[in-house]
Amino acid sequence: MSIVQLPDERGYFGTYGGMYVPETLMAPLNDLAREYESARKDPAFSTELASLLKDYVGRPSPLYRAEGLTRHLGGATLYLKREDLLHTGAHKINNAIGQILLAKRMGKKRVIAETGAGQHGVATATVAAKFGCECVIYMGEVDMKRQALNVARMKFLGATVVPVKVGQRTLKEAVNEAMRDWVTNIRSTHYILGTAYGSHPYPAMVRDFQRIIGDEARAQILEKEGRLPDHIIACVGGGSNAIGIFTAFVPDTQVALTGVEAGGRAIVPGEHAARFAGGSLGVLQGTRSYILQDDNGQILNTHSISAGLDYAAVGPEHAYLREIGRASYAYATDDEALEAFRLLCKIEGIIPALESSHAVAHAMKIAPTLGSDKIVIVNLSGRGDKDVQQAAQFVGMELP
Ligand SMILES: *Cc1c(COP(=O)(O)O)cnc(C)c1O
Repeated sequence: MSIVQLPDERGYFGTYGGMYVPETLMAPLNDLAREYESARKDPAFSTELASLLKDYVGRPSPLYRAEGLTRHLGGATLYLKREDLLHTGAHKINNAIGQILLAKRMGKKRVIAETGAGQHGVATATVAAKFGCECVIYMGEVDMKRQALNVARMKFLGATVVPVKVGQRTLKEAVNEAMRDWVTNIRSTHYILGTAYGSHPYPAMVRDFQRIIGDEARAQILEKEGRLPDHIIACVGGGSNAIGIFTAFVPDTQVALTGVEAGGRAIVPGEHAARFAGGSLGVLQGTRSYILQDDNGQILNTHSISAGLDYAAVGPEHAYLREIGRASYAYATDDEALEAFRLLCKIEGIIPALESSHAVAHAMKIAPTLGSDKIVIVNLSGRGDKDVQQAAQFVGMELP
């Protein structure tokens, strides 16, 4: 299969993707695509990136055989790809490091980013500090409240955090503000978009910076088990950790790929963020994909217990993989994610991000239905330190 060769030169994965942006952004996006193409072929770029991923980020992340969880669920053998162990606590840093190196090549000394849960904001503020760049992070006011710890981290790292107070005051509005900033400051500024979404070249570029997750996992499982896994499971917000672990396995058609979206309280408009379960085709923030919209094309409000999955649209390559039948998409509700969060804490001594807990929740559903000869890899996209306060509230835990 030549799927990983996509997108085409206009940024399309089949009929999904593209460049749906104002005229003023076409030139900088085309410049970025060209710069990225030349960086990809430059051995000096690859060498510097590899060295930073190893010594600064902490790669390779382990592939951990979760024996307690496997025993508890009583079925397939479960492995966790431990992106939670990376510097700053999630996979977002893989992409942020790659893009700051691009900013450096382009001579841009100011970086901006949107953030939902705050993990991408923290990753961006981190690499900006390391490379001496000015850094501005746009974050919805609602997300700032539920992720106050990450706001403090960004500020200590030297970033300016701008509260976005319009609309639903979450990720979608933060993206709008970041795009507005970029249009205004295009000469000095690189926009470090945090997921495999938006106009070309971002979906492909972010995928390529994240594909190390799957490249490592594939080599690690072959070394440990002598064969490929039967299932790969990852949560899907914009889609970067999922596409990052899927890509290496796409040609291995015997490996089932499953993305897990946020089912929220229920699959009714406004109560979830499961774009494939409750969405339809449309255009939002630069790309054509599945989005949550009403009959008039107005973007619906979304809800998820996890800020990182709380977004109205999904990356175009996921829409494509689903259409050609290479990947399938499920969802887990808030309650199921919270149950998975608690189980992993208790049984494995690992506090997962609420986002990643959605992937664990799906593994809890399918593992018991599979034979003990089957192997499932769950991408543990991040750690849950940022989420404990919110989780405590949800379960009614008394805190001093
Ligand atoms: C941001 C985030 C996600 C969702 O983003 P994707 O681009 O879909 O990966 C998932 N898990 C964690 C830990 C995150 O921080």
